[in-house]
Amino acid sequence: MSNEAFRQLGYRIVDMVVDRHREKDREPAIAEQSPEWFAAQLSQVLPVAGQPIEPLLSQLADSVLAYQQHGDHPRYFARVPSPASYAAILGEWLATGFNTISTSWGGGAGPAAVEKLVMTWLAELLDLPQNSEGVLLSGGSMANFTAFAVAKHERGLGTVYLHEQTHSSLKRNLQNLGFADTQIRVLPCNWQFAFDLEVLRSAIEHDLQAGNQPMMVVASAGTTNTGTVDDLQAISALCQQHALWLHVDGAYGAPAYLTERGKVVMQGLSLADSVVLDPHKWFFQPYDVGACLIRHPGALERCFGMYPEYLKDSQGEHALNFGNRSLELTRRSRAVKLWLSMQTYGTDAMAAGIDVGIDLALYAQSIIEASERWELVTPAQLGVVCLALKGARDGQHAIMAHRLAESGYACVSSTTLAGRSVLRLCTINPLTTTEDIDQTLSRLLEFAG
Ligand SMILES: *Cc1c(COP(=O)(O)O)cnc(C)c1O
Repeated sequence: MSNEAFRQLGYRIVDMVVDRHREKDREPAIAEQSPEWFAAQLSQVLPVAGQPIEPLLSQLADSVLAYQQHGDHPRYFARVPSPASYAAILGEWLATGFNTISTSWGGGAGPAAVEKLVMTWLAELLDLPQNSEGVLLSGGSMANFTAFAVAKHERGLGTVYLHEQTHSSLKRNLQNLGFADTQIRVLPCNWQFAFDLEVLRSAIEHDLQAGNQPMMVVASAGTTNTGTVDDLQAISALCQQHALWLHVDGAYGAPAYLTERGKVVMQGLSLADSVVLDPHKWFFQPYDVGACLIRHPGALERCFGMYPEYLKDSQGEHALNFGNRSLELTRRSRAVKLWLSMQTYGTDAMAAGIDVGIDLALYAQSIIEASERWELVTPAQLGVVCLALKGARDGQHAIMAHRLAESGYACVSSTTLAGRSVLRLCTINPLTTTEDIDQTLSRLLEFAG
């Protein structure tokens, strides 16, 4: 491909992306097709000979990219949305265009310097010590995995305490790191769907008496189901008392620490040994990027460092090799987009965007509470609210959510809390309007029949 052709196609792609963003209010919040449909749309023949690129771009836009959950759609309220911002998208494109690598100092000093800086900023935003270290990964699952590997390396295998609302990937992580099922305690929650401190305390004491080795408590700063934050201050005191590692999974919730309201509910976050935060959820980044922060300098590299002869040239004298901070060796720079968007908008504006998401859930709560037909199940917490149709039949919530998604107007989740079926809205897109919330709730009622 010639430079000129690449330039023209690049402009064309920018146009496609901007047009889609301008119109995204009108696209379905989520769309799906069957495997048969895709097989009919996309030639299954191995493309031995090349073909013109322009029709392929249209085909990708119309037959592939249209069919997904649009996490940046203003009425995508399911699971955890991803309201990606323009500056972050530009950063992602630029880094890819330069084929950026963030593995070693010798092979990527610039990207390493930016990743170090961004991790320092994230630590500062969360009030973690300035010499905390971190690494960017594909998301919360890998970031939690990386933190657990470090904790295990520092403290050895032992008993780990989670609760019923802890994200399911965390248990999978522990199992794959060699923790036995008998070392993974999934404790029942209190009525707020958080750690019950008495249950946690007695589980730890029981394990001590039984000769087991309590090793880590995994707290949540924003559970996926209800947005609940564990009592981090009290849990941290308990961890200090028993010399346990405190891990905080703030994959979706931790960015709210930038706001006054978030800081209040997350008091104690800064005492954690390790924290995870997903910028592709509530920090306005496109997929993918998850941040793992470790309070203890050198711990990441003690766990993941490797120094074979064939990497000697690249590792350089400055010893800042992100390839030594996780299982990823060759890795792109996820820091460039973070750096560009943090610099462009400023973290005050990003915090203001997060505040809007918190307000939108409170607004949804007010509509639910004023309605005859809705019942509030869990209050608005960090942009998440759970509700139920009064007198809902078995499976009715799932049907309502399904019909709403099929209509294209909006997408919400149906989930289960303490055995009870509920609907759930996650309202973290600052471009969502109160009208969007009103309409989504009233259309859901229409689909209830
Ligand atoms: C989303 C989420 C995860 C998993 O993160 P991925 O980015 O999907 O890998 C873990 N914990 C919590 C609380 C989450 O919300």
